[in-house]
Amino acid sequence: MPTNAATRALVRDLERAAGREHVLHHPEDLVGFEYDATIERATPDAVVFPENAEEVAAIVEVARRHDVPIVPRGSGTGLAGGALAVRGGVLCVMTRMNRILEMDAANRIAVIEPGVINLALQDEAAKHGLTYAPDPSSQRVCTIGGNIATNSGGPHTLAHGSTVNHVLGVEVVLPDGRITWLGGRQLDTPGPDLRGLFVGSEGTLGIVTKVCVRLIRIQPAVRTMLAIFKTVDAASAAVSDVIRQGVIPVAMEMLDHEIIVAVEQTMHVGYPLDAGAVLLIEVEGMREAVEADAALVVAACEANGAREVRLADDEAEREQLWEGRKAGIGALGAVSPNFYLLDGVVPRTKLPEVMRGVLDLSERYGFRCANIFHAGDGNLHPNIMFDELEPGTTQRVLDLGGEIMRLCVDAGGSITGEHGVGLEKRSYMEWIFSADDLAAMERVRVAFGSGEFFNPCKILPTGHGCGQAHESEMRRHLATPGVYV
Ligand SMILES: Cc1cc2nc3c(=O)[nH]c(=O)nc-3n(C[C@H](O)[C@H](O)[C@H](O)COP(=O)(O)OP(=O)(O)OC[C@H]3O[C@@H](n4cnc5c(N)ncnc54)[C@H](O)[C@@H]3O)c2cc1C
Repeated sequence: MPTNAATRALVRDLERAAGREHVLHHPEDLVGFEYDATIERATPDAVVFPENAEEVAAIVEVARRHDVPIVPRGSGTGLAGGALAVRGGVLCVMTRMNRILEMDAANRIAVIEPGVINLALQDEAAKHGLTYAPDPSSQRVCTIGGNIATNSGGPHTLAHGSTVNHVLGVEVVLPDGRITWLGGRQLDTPGPDLRGLFVGSEGTLGIVTKVCVRLIRIQPAVRTMLAIFKTVDAASAAVSDVIRQGVIPVAMEMLDHEIIVAVEQTMHVGYPLDAGAVLLIEVEGMREAVEADAALVVAACEANGAREVRLADDEAEREQLWEGRKAGIGALGAVSPNFYLLDGVVPRTKLPEVMRGVLDLSERYGFRCANIFHAGDGNLHPNIMFDELEPGTTQRVLDLGGEIMRLCVDAGGSITGEHGVGLEKRSYMEWIFSADDLAAMERVRVAFGSGEFFNPCKILPTGHGCGQAHESEMRRHLATPGVYV
């Protein structure tokens, strides 16, 4: 038992709420829950694994009674420090609640628990000719609850939208322990859209305990292409040109030379090692339309200097092309001791100038920068490669990261496209929101009754007991090779 009397009492009450075998409190057990996919560390007082909404409500009541914060957590793949218990307290891990409760193919909906893994839902839906569209690259591990909390995107967000467009309703445990539904099983519910407000709230307003999602039909035909370019500039120009032609591919992903080399070193999917960048583009729909769209995409890429556009001949070839994309970030572990993964978004038409800016800035700072991102959405993921053992390097990486974020904002974009704000980006919120905007967001927390009780020190730049966010807080937000999937 913990030596501290207050923590001992907290653990005893948590064990009563969820069962002794579902509560962790020994320091050696807490280590695994000190981090997410960043390398920031924060130790909770206890970790608890509830089995149902009633247990979650009881856990919330215990945390409130003991006056400690509560932080919801899924698989811990978040890239913004959102699932860290930065002020200690209770980490409520939702992975035991992983059942698919209902698959209603006729109405194209599924009701699931929040700990269901994204890919498990897709696999189950596929048995009915359906799919759940949001497909983060971490989909083999991340939970739907985490996807909802961060409003996750993925390669197929371009045509289908992000998580908020596919969640019809959520059952949540509110900070006062009440269990309620926001939204429901229909596309719309009367009154204000509280479901929409909740998606992207990063565990600050409540804990998701059940979800009703929208499923879509798997299209009869798909064409996957790899367009090969000499430069990132040319590939960036092709992105908006494809859409200007009137085609909205379901996915349009860019991988630059650094990523191509890393992927080929680790898994050999056949990306060309002499390319400056490739675009992985997919169109889907009825067979005749797909062939016509693919022809337009090929023409637009060639008009922008693509030296070759390869079309996947069969499903195996398509899967191989996607395998390189999905494992691309992890492959960086083979070529760099550390890398800092950024997430910014810019208007698609600004891609060429912003990408030029990203590469120029990286060169000026003396870092290699690998880019793998959702180009069609203008959602950048520069990965700054470095070695944290070199003195002073970490601070320069953070300075560079800040300048890249500023570049995105100045281009009319934003500080996150899909990973959320979490702990990492809260100091940047003042760049895009006024003091009044931020005060309004704070009032939403108050209205939900959470204040700083649920997931403190996240999203907003200030917070009771957290102080003003500052750059040193981000010092350790540096992705470590090895944690990736
Ligand atoms: C290699 C790699 C690739 C990635 N690719 C993508 C990508 O393409 N697109 C993308 O959007 N993200 C991506 N991510 C980031 C991450 O996978 C997503 O943010 C994902 O949604 C996090 O899910 P999780 O279950 O791991 O949540 P966690 O990391 O455990 O938590 C994330 C946030 O959700 C909150 N939360 C978790 N569960 C609940 C719940 N039940 N109720 C309320 N709040 C909850 C937490 O408090 C936290 O704020 C990637 C990460 C990695 C490591």
